[in-house]
Amino acid sequence: MKVLKFGGTSVGSAENIAKVKSIVEATQGPVVVVVSAIGGITDRLIRAARMAGDGNSGYASEIDYIISIHQQIIQSLFPDPSSNAIQMELLPMFDELKSIIKGVFLTRELTDKSLAGISGFGERLSSKIIAEFLGAQWFDSRLYIKSYVEYGRPRADLHTTYKLLAELKNRLGNLSLFPGFICSNAQNENSTLGRGGSDYTASILASAFEAQMLEIWTDVDGFMTADPKIISRAYCIKHLSYAEAMELSHFGAKVIYPPTILPVYQKNIPITIKNTFNPNAPGTLIDGVKEIPEERQIKGISSIKNVALLTVQGIGMVGVSGIAMRLFASLAEKEVNVILISQASSENSISIVIDSRQTDIARHAIEKEFKRELDERQISNINIDDEMAVVAIVGENMKHTTGMAGLLFNSVGKNGVNVYAIAQGASELNISFVIKEKDIKKALNVIHEAFFLSDYSRLNLFIVGKGTVGSKLIHKIATQREKLIKNNSLKIRVVGLAGRNTMVFDKDGLNPENVIEQLNREGIPGNVSSFRDRIIEMNLANSVFVDCSASEDVAALYQSLLEANVSVVTANKIASSSSFATYRKLKETARKKGVKFFYETNVGAGLPIIAPINDLVRSGEKILRLEAVLSGTLNYIVNTLSEDQPLSQVIIDAKEKGFSEPDPRIDLSGTDVVRKALILAREAGYPLEQSDVEVEPFVPQSYLELPSLELFMEKIKEMDALFEDRRKKAVANNKKLRYAAQMTADGKAKVGLIEVDRMHPFFDLEGSNNIVLIWSEHYFEHPMQIKGYGAGADVTAAGVLADIIKVANV
Ligand code: ADP
Ligand code: ASP
Ligand code: MG
Repeated sequence: MKVLKFGGTSVGSAENIAKVKSIVEATQGPVVVVVSAIGGITDRLIRAARMAGDGNSGYASEIDYIISIHQQIIQSLFPDPSSNAIQMELLPMFDELKSIIKGVFLTRELTDKSLAGISGFGERLSSKIIAEFLGAQWFDSRLYIKSYVEYGRPRADLHTTYKLLAELKNRLGNLSLFPGFICSNAQNENSTLGRGGSDYTASILASAFEAQMLEIWTDVDGFMTADPKIISRAYCIKHLSYAEAMELSHFGAKVIYPPTILPVYQKNIPITIKNTFNPNAPGTLIDGVKEIPEERQIKGISSIKNVALLTVQGIGMVGVSGIAMRLFASLAEKEVNVILISQASSENSISIVIDSRQTDIARHAIEKEFKRELDERQISNINIDDEMAVVAIVGENMKHTTGMAGLLFNSVGKNGVNVYAIAQGASELNISFVIKEKDIKKALNVIHEAFFLSDYSRLNLFIVGKGTVGSKLIHKIATQREKLIKNNSLKIRVVGLAGRNTMVFDKDGLNPENVIEQLNREGIPGNVSSFRDRIIEMNLANSVFVDCSASEDVAALYQSLLEANVSVVTANKIASSSSFATYRKLKETARKKGVKFFYETNVGAGLPIIAPINDLVRSGEKILRLEAVLSGTLNYIVNTLSEDQPLSQVIIDAKEKGFSEPDPRIDLSGTDVVRKALILAREAGYPLEQSDVEVEPFVPQSYLELPSLELFMEKIKEMDALFEDRRKKAVANNKKLRYAAQMTADGKAKVGLIEVDRMHPFFDLEGSNNIVLIWSEHYFEHPMQIKGYGAGADVTAAGVLADIIKVANV
């Protein structure tokens, strides 16, 4: 025999009930079916009962709605009115429901007994309809399942229940059906097994009838690695031990009601969780087999919301036996349900997690019990943090592995999730901990990723700038994303994009193919600091801020973003080349917070320059000297100068070809090179400030100070002859002009125009290329050389994407 339980969604419509029928018909041998109420009906019944108790006449329309839902299903399942026996059977039940609830309304009193009676109507109605539709023999669970209340919670009286069911067993036919959830107490009054209790009904029947299998048919493929409503990447777990299933459900995995496990566990009856809407999926098998070596260490993650953390603290608790016992006894007396307990080994505090709704009752109970200790200040404080959540990771194989807790807390910590209390069961089957409720989604996401429960890691990008670099980056993301998922198991999502005054967001990811148009069309107004505020507020796991602007205001946001555990990837050099203190603080904050601050494209665009210098320094190499050509524009200019192309002409040419900034004075002043040289020097370990760099501008300062670009372009012609002279001289000596940056071991740096001969690696530097030479202890005779395209939006965007991928560490 098998027991099949169908939940609220499975019986939620005529169409779904037809699916139930085909599943039942496909099952071999005697079958016992248990059904819940139609999805959402129990909530509505309870709401209506409360309204009636409060004297709110709105309860009547709730009841009408509940009745109409059942009527509709009956009409769809039994279209032939002549044979409508079920209508006749349900009409008196509808009347009974109306009259009970009316009684509550008139007396303004909702007793536990009437609440239990009303809330069980959903199962009474659905079970009648489905039994008729399946042609099953209907049994009234209330006659066989007995319950009592302990500490405010319903419990099955298994002893009596099994006796009653044993007598029934021989009377069962091939297809029997029982309403879930409902039962009766010793006085034969209506009662229930608690919210979600239909699973429990099914388990009790399976145990009593010694079924070969209990099947829980629900609306998901099985027990998932996490609640699929929170983690979309959660996937179905093939197998769980009874203990694992019990732990996961105790800590919030709603797919199965926690007490369900015990009755079948005692008889070693396996449970399978199956999806009514995908019956061919294998589902989850729960049985007594544990510690299968090839299974994962962590099977699943669960979470509970709406809880409070209550901490009792005081010196007077240390070494005094019986405190914990008195604490729990006082709470138990007031029927406060304790979800988690954590005690510091110094014994000077005990933290417990309780339902948020019970905080006042709990506080009063403890204050009463420990009045003397409180008066004498032996207990100093009862602290309550509300809006908390418990998260638990569960797996039998954790027992044999070290480092699980380390990995767990490292991954949540890096994402800025604070942990308030921790409990690890002595069985090492679970580690549970308390966080703020607002962090739940983030925590679940990072844990899911950390324990490789996810098939891929995910980065959530917030991009500022839709200019040349920003738009190319977004284009690259659009074209590379599938490949990154496939080859690197990395999913990159653009979650926010900001222009100068507008922004767009979508926490599920914007479409990179048209996000710029979307920003232009429907961007909401906001400046960069409102963009930052929104990023912090969204609180997503693995958030990365990507700066594709050249703005000082944007660079000013990095510190607060890093502090909020958001990684920063930037093509903007302002922050790294501002004061050394700012630069160092940014790097330190990133390190402390466990997030990344990457700016490889600040020097040499897509060329890997900063990373190799970092590698050298990290491996203990001292960088002795750096020489570099770091301006593509200026290198283009010196390479293009000729007899027929004087300086003023080449400047116009560079501007027209897009090699220079729109205002070429920015390049010609040498400031850009100074900034890059400064960053290189700092990466090499020299704490320089901008003022430490000796700079000879490419053209004399007096020209750069002219009031307009037009005037500058006009006046710069005066320099044509001088540059031509220098060029000729250089050619005559077999040399070439280069605008170079140099840094030496004494920490001196300078930037200016130099001449290099044929033997020098700068000699053959073509077009707008960049080159960096690095001398260190081991690269002494022959410096390390890095050379290639050092400018352009395409290579910069590629470099930014490379930094982004590095954040994920895949
Ligand atoms: P039913 O009405 O069939 O009893 P429930 O709503 O009680 O269904 O339980 C199924 C729901 O449990 C799923 O829709 C899912 O949102 C939720 N759930 C929470 N945690 C998990 C988990 N770890 N695995 C599967 N489902 C989960
Ligand atoms: N219908 C009941 C509830 O909503 C029992 C169940 O669904 O298992 O709590
Ligand atoms: Mg359920």
